[in-house]
Amino acid sequence: MAGPERPFIISPQPDASDRVLSYGDMLSLSARLAHALVQRGVKPGDRVAAQVEKSAEAIVLYLACVRAGAIWLPLNTAYTLAELEYFIGDAEPALVVCDPAQADAAGALAARLGVGAVETLGADGRSGSLLQRAQALSPLFEDVGRGADDAAAILYTSGTTGRSKGAVLSHGNLIANSTTLARLWRYEADDVLLHALPIFHTHGLFVATNVTLMAGASMICLSKFDADQMLARMPGASVMMGVPTFYVRMLQHPGLTRAATAGMRLFISGSAPLLEETHNAWSERTGHRILERYGMTETNMNSSNPYDGDRVAGTVGPPLPGTEIRIADPESGAALPQGEVGMIEIRGPNVFKGYWRMPDKTAADFRDDGYFISGDLGRFDARGYLHIVGRSKDLVISGGFNVYPKEVEAEIDAMPGVLEAAVIGLPHPDFGEGVTAVVTARPGAELQESVILAALEQSLAKYKRPKRVLFVDELPRNTMGKVQKNVLRETFKGLYQ
Ligand code: AMP
Repeated sequence: MAGPERPFIISPQPDASDRVLSYGDMLSLSARLAHALVQRGVKPGDRVAAQVEKSAEAIVLYLACVRAGAIWLPLNTAYTLAELEYFIGDAEPALVVCDPAQADAAGALAARLGVGAVETLGADGRSGSLLQRAQALSPLFEDVGRGADDAAAILYTSGTTGRSKGAVLSHGNLIANSTTLARLWRYEADDVLLHALPIFHTHGLFVATNVTLMAGASMICLSKFDADQMLARMPGASVMMGVPTFYVRMLQHPGLTRAATAGMRLFISGSAPLLEETHNAWSERTGHRILERYGMTETNMNSSNPYDGDRVAGTVGPPLPGTEIRIADPESGAALPQGEVGMIEIRGPNVFKGYWRMPDKTAADFRDDGYFISGDLGRFDARGYLHIVGRSKDLVISGGFNVYPKEVEAEIDAMPGVLEAAVIGLPHPDFGEGVTAVVTARPGAELQESVILAALEQSLAKYKRPKRVLFVDELPRNTMGKVQKNVLRETFKGLYQ
């Protein structure tokens, strides 16, 4: 176990110094913040929604929610006010925490939606009303008891207005998964994680933070990914977790060498497919085999390449201990023979209980015997390693972020002169997939790529906006009248290459 002096979060500062939050600091600050939550009317089971920049204090606020028995609801910092409205309306939080710069706008929105309290927390980890309030409160807090089935967090699976689903993760889910991963990846108290992921997503929040906590280890908390900074901090670190884009970008950096990575013991990748080419280039440059694992918001992590043994490029490894994965016929749910491609279905203590206030959607996504229908298609090879071959859901993953084409299509369809848009992901060397809109015009209308892109700046977070808008006379359709996106992907596959 970590002693109170052991660093928990190391935050590099603009003046090149480090701010260190020890385990003892974390306990007292989370207690003060838990008192502040209670003072603001947060009761066990209430939601606390936070759209705040990444900081050690934001991570401690998550822990304060856990201690107060509240449900942590982190929101992507890229969401616009219009998008925020949906989440706050759906989750009905008792408290909204936002950046001080957003206080007026988010405050007005929260008041309109009947939220009782709004507080602010700044990116510097010092500013904002919440910390000010917490400073005056006791550093001791009696934790509210929670059971394994009680909700710990709600993570929304996408930012689509009206369609986004809140995955409710229980304390049991989080403990089971982080315990398993810490063991599997040989996490120890002397590990130091390079953490450049966002903390509103399962990867940076649960995988990275909870595994660190489970081991009593430390992490270097970088506000965002920057290849220079990653390499500069590597000598003081032992583990890195990243999305494939991190690895692609670092490979472009001349500073990535065997010497630079010599002190590291583990590189982990997930959230999107890591190209075999990237995997192999990394091994050649650094001598380290990246460990690729597979998970999703609803299930936490499901499978992982082994710590010892072969880490096979293009696969996500065998199921985690305690987690069952089967490949099933997408229609009937019948298990398929080994080697065949089908729906990846998952059962285990890591799998969530359901979507927030969507019993029908929850029921539709589970089989009668408790397996969750992931929406990913895959197959097992002869060694029992899982290969993900595609997504049955119509999802684009750009730079590790999920973009639901339907949401982007709806925005473009509503523009004057547009007949119809189809949004697809095309292979992109930097982002994995580049969001691309293929658009048809109404008769006589003159459409321009720049006009459509500019209009989307008002309505969509940057990562969702298309990198290119292409125009065609007609969208290809099958006999059922459905747009054949596979044909579009094939036609334009070289666009970014
Ligand atoms: P999210 O809920 O945002 O974590 O996204 C989950 C989805 O990301 C999964 O359903 C997969 O489609 C995809 N995903 C996660 N990890 C991997 C991986 N290692 N390889 C391929 N796809 C992945």
